[in-house]
Amino acid sequence: MPDRFCVVGLAAGSNIDLLAKQVEEFHPEFIYYSQDYNQDEKAQACRGDFGSRFLPVDEIAVHSRVDTVIMAISGGAGFSPTSAAVRAGKTIALANKESLVMAGEIITGEVRQHGARILPVDSEHSAIWQCLSGEGRGVSRLILTASGGPFLNYSPARLKGVSLSQALRHPSWQMGAKVTIDSATLMNKGLEVIEAHWLFGIPLENIQVLVHPQSIVHSMVEFVDGSVKAQLSYPDMRLPIQYALFYPERVSNPELPRLDWNNIKRLDFEPPDIDRFPCLRLAIEAGERGGTCPAVLCAADEAAVGLFVEEKIGFVDIARLVEHVLDQHQVIAHPGIEEIMAADDWARELVFKMVNGDS
Ligand code: MG
Repeated sequence: MPDRFCVVGLAAGSNIDLLAKQVEEFHPEFIYYSQDYNQDEKAQACRGDFGSRFLPVDEIAVHSRVDTVIMAISGGAGFSPTSAAVRAGKTIALANKESLVMAGEIITGEVRQHGARILPVDSEHSAIWQCLSGEGRGVSRLILTASGGPFLNYSPARLKGVSLSQALRHPSWQMGAKVTIDSATLMNKGLEVIEAHWLFGIPLENIQVLVHPQSIVHSMVEFVDGSVKAQLSYPDMRLPIQYALFYPERVSNPELPRLDWNNIKRLDFEPPDIDRFPCLRLAIEAGERGGTCPAVLCAADEAAVGLFVEEKIGFVDIARLVEHVLDQHQVIAHPGIEEIMAADDWARELVFKMVNGDS
């Protein structure tokens, strides 16, 4: 949609090949890529051809030519550029959940202070946002749907033997490794509960999770009179992304599939099994404890998922490690950024120590 949008900057992690393709298509003024990766030659080439200048990701996010920042960096790395964009009063189409989970109190405070806007891109939150459109204060409950991931009906014994490649095969959504593993453990849904709490100002106890394997109802809102609104569509991230980008306008997009009611035979819903998927319980408990706990949850989970992706721990170890780290944590209420970052470091270190046998 080049008549509506111009890409000012693009930021990548390690996927320089995709960055190069996008630079060729969009000719951004600025690019960023993570320099943790030794791909400098390739990266150099991709910025040279089109005159794109390298700029740190936080500086791209606050640049005066930028109106809207699409924040799709996964994990704790998304926190700093999100926070910078908020302080610069930008509109942020937010796909990163960790920044709100880690520091929801600080980020929402800064949003008010700097007149920034956060528009959800996560499909569940986009659904809730759409259901809330035109509504006032009469919300009684948010109902977040979860596909249940690839292991929805696995027994506890079978979950123990889950391999990395099985966990990376999500039944409805194509996403990066971190979000896909988090979806398989249901940690992703737990993070989304905390994210919804901060985005919509609804108490955690009024947010419920419901497993819905077809991934057609993307979430629901119940109102005080008992009426429930839902948003439905096939799982396709282009819809929530475009809803945020064009908001408050709805635009037709022939590439988005229409629901075919002749083929949708049924829509199933069931409560999640938190005994088999303890990460969901751990996330909600961390949200209720508040303070530095959600940051510790995010950091421990990110470290544990990293170790699972490196095949150093098993699937069920992710929840075990996160639970242990949360149990050890001495929570600080209403933390500042430095305390949040310190808790984050502490949690990651403890996960590595536990796996390497030092603790
Ligand atoms: Mg989601």
